[in-house]
Amino acid sequence: MSTFKALVVTKPDTGYSCNFADFDERDLMDGDVTVRITHSTINYKDGLAITGKGPVVRRFPMIPGVDFAGEVIATSHKDWDPGDHVILNGWGCGETHHGGYAERAKVSGDWLVRVPYGMTHAQAMAVGTAGYTAMLSLMALEAHSITPARGPVLVTGAAGGVGSTAIALLARAGYTVVASTGRPEEADYLKNLGASEVIDRAELTGPPRPLGKERFAGAVDTVGSLTLANVISQIKYGGAVAACGLAGGADLPSSVMPFILRGVSLLGIDSVHCPAVVRKEAWRRIANELDRDKLDAMTTAIPFDDVKDKAGYILDGKVRGRVVVEIG
Ligand code: NDP
Repeated sequence: MSTFKALVVTKPDTGYSCNFADFDERDLMDGDVTVRITHSTINYKDGLAITGKGPVVRRFPMIPGVDFAGEVIATSHKDWDPGDHVILNGWGCGETHHGGYAERAKVSGDWLVRVPYGMTHAQAMAVGTAGYTAMLSLMALEAHSITPARGPVLVTGAAGGVGSTAIALLARAGYTVVASTGRPEEADYLKNLGASEVIDRAELTGPPRPLGKERFAGAVDTVGSLTLANVISQIKYGGAVAACGLAGGADLPSSVMPFILRGVSLLGIDSVHCPAVVRKEAWRRIANELDRDKLDAMTTAIPFDDVKDKAGYILDGKVRGRVVVEIG
């Protein structure tokens, strides 16, 4: 195959555009493993990259898509053989290195993780960066000794991809989960994933008090801005917030009061450059702990041709759970 189908972002003088193209295999960037991509997914960041509404793509032309699953077809890397089933999340793919919205990828073998035993490529992408970030958030809370016995854990942006997976993982780990959503019609969906209580996100968007009522032992926040500020002010003494998203804004209009008077901790979560040892552990735990029926319940599959249309939806907060893109 000398050319393959890819979604390509360009930025000529006329502006930012994103279109399907026949991409020449010789124009792939350096890498010691070539992968036949079978599935990708749509994360919030992909929505920004496809629409150009956020500065995700930093090199042009660029194949967007921050993650993919597929089969190794050529390799000179010591860890990989042809026929191996692999996942890629992050490492700048879809930003500075050609990403997952293509039938082929050429990447560093150091970036790849093996598809867990018993998991299909489609399931791996149903998890995707969003689900793996949810697991990183759970691991961060655990490392901070936020045990189920310490009280309820809040998940914001609950009906989104990170939020849905976080609920399922936290509930499975024994936590009492409170889900915050702007979509009350999704209450049954969120309870089926494992939420004990569903609250209106409007409760968390007013002007934050320096110290609010102590409600939650911990939180996974995908929203940022006023929501995160309100969440921090409502964390119990010694609790922690895993801050992983900015769906509501990148600012943080908070005060130091919860940190210095209640010993609250803000735990930063980065999936992109997370060390290989941690990401392998996250994927191992996902394979063991994420209920496949719940994963199915939160997942919609779309054909490759529909990825551009769906990208706008995710930025509008209209996608429920996870979207798998069937590449080939
Ligand atoms: P989704 O769009 O699937 O989920 C985001 C959710 O946030 C929406 O479903 C909605 O939930 C809520 N939301 C959207 N807009 C607003 C708003 N203006 N105010 C309040 N809530 C809002 O995205 P993902 O789950 O893929 O990603 C969530 C966030 O996490 C993104 O900001 C993304 O960039 C970030 N992220 C960060 C990673 C990292 O490495 N740190 C990795 C992956 C994602 P509801 O309708 O339930 O209220």
